[in-house]
Amino acid sequence: MHGTQGQAVSIDAGRVMERIGRLSEIGKISETGVCRLALSPEDREAVDVVAEWMAEAGMSVRLDAFGNLIGRLEGEDPGAPAVMLGSHIDTQPYAGRFDGIVGVVGAIEVTQTLKDGGMKPSVPVEVVSFCDEEGCRFNKGLFGVRGMLGRLDDGELERTDKNGVTRREALIAFGGDPARFAEDELAPGKVRAFLELHIEQGPVLEAKDRAVGIVTGISGPLWWTVDLYGFAGHAGSVPMPMRKDALAGAAEIVVGLRALATEDPGAPTVGTVGSLRVFPDSRNIIPEHVQFTVDLRDIDLPRRDGLEARLRELIADAAMRHGLQAEIREDTNSEPRYCADWIMDAIREGAAEMGLDAPELMSGPFHDSLAMSYYCDYGMIFVRCKDGISHNPKEYASAEDIGLGTELLYRTALRLCTK
Ligand SMILES: [Zn+2]
Repeated sequence: MHGTQGQAVSIDAGRVMERIGRLSEIGKISETGVCRLALSPEDREAVDVVAEWMAEAGMSVRLDAFGNLIGRLEGEDPGAPAVMLGSHIDTQPYAGRFDGIVGVVGAIEVTQTLKDGGMKPSVPVEVVSFCDEEGCRFNKGLFGVRGMLGRLDDGELERTDKNGVTRREALIAFGGDPARFAEDELAPGKVRAFLELHIEQGPVLEAKDRAVGIVTGISGPLWWTVDLYGFAGHAGSVPMPMRKDALAGAAEIVVGLRALATEDPGAPTVGTVGSLRVFPDSRNIIPEHVQFTVDLRDIDLPRRDGLEARLRELIADAAMRHGLQAEIREDTNSEPRYCADWIMDAIREGAAEMGLDAPELMSGPFHDSLAMSYYCDYGMIFVRCKDGISHNPKEYASAEDIGLGTELLYRTALRLCTK
């Protein structure tokens, strides 16, 4: 049970699963479904439960001004920069039991294991349950972590949910305090590393038949809104060579994007047109205007830039051949954020010690880690999830895989605390 050599398991996987089950009861909407929106009474109830677990694991606990729950286990050198572990416990409205939760419960298990083993880390360990990672209630995510890092935008407290409640009102009711934001910002140099355990929310590990994976980085999305303008006409009378059909042009672009994103089978590039609107949307009118979105992601920014340039050419070419006018508006352009080599090394060592073959993969979705990456070095461990399903009550990760992920989190954290 003690020590970190060989196959012996240090963490208590049963306790981890019990706690995940306990949280799934708060905001439960079906057998496996959960709705625990950020800053709701359910979210607060869950925070109180998690706070108790943190205290039980020997941490001092506080809720900061942004609604983040922070536990701290003192190290031998209390003045040293801390190692921070964590994730989030708020959920989407139609969610499963694991997204975010595994990372918070797993992080508490790490400190509980240290305490149970009578071990004191050489540097402080902090466990954070970040406020409102999902962003579905106020349409902007990563609130708590951005707040802590002084990266909130103007007007964020004035955003309203669909009932007209402002974030300011919800945050105050929750126990946060906008008047104390400045004092709760994390000063530079207070945290040396951030480590997050999370379910993959994709199908890669399952396809590779591996329980856990080592994240290499979070790919930044490029988001566009594209407008194609043609000319409407009677679908029965305008001869084909004379048409300016915006939808025909859009169709070529949709197919072309797919071809670009799949031409290098070894690359993790993904390209998606997820929304498309046709005007006037009538069966016997040639489409005059089509608006669609583009989501292009890659962990390799130069490769993504190259694909972006070719996609622009492809759009210009399709527009020219169909007699259309094309306009591209860039909505988001995030750069990929790479995990720190020294933290990935620590995860690799931990996995090797456990005899685990942990493949390396990038994260398409973003996480609290994305925001933390602008403050300190970070690393992430992924746990396999069934059929890659997430943001859905069908989301599932096995107890065995979660146990392995938590054990790897523990072994990695031990290395980060002492290096
Ligand atoms: Zn999450």
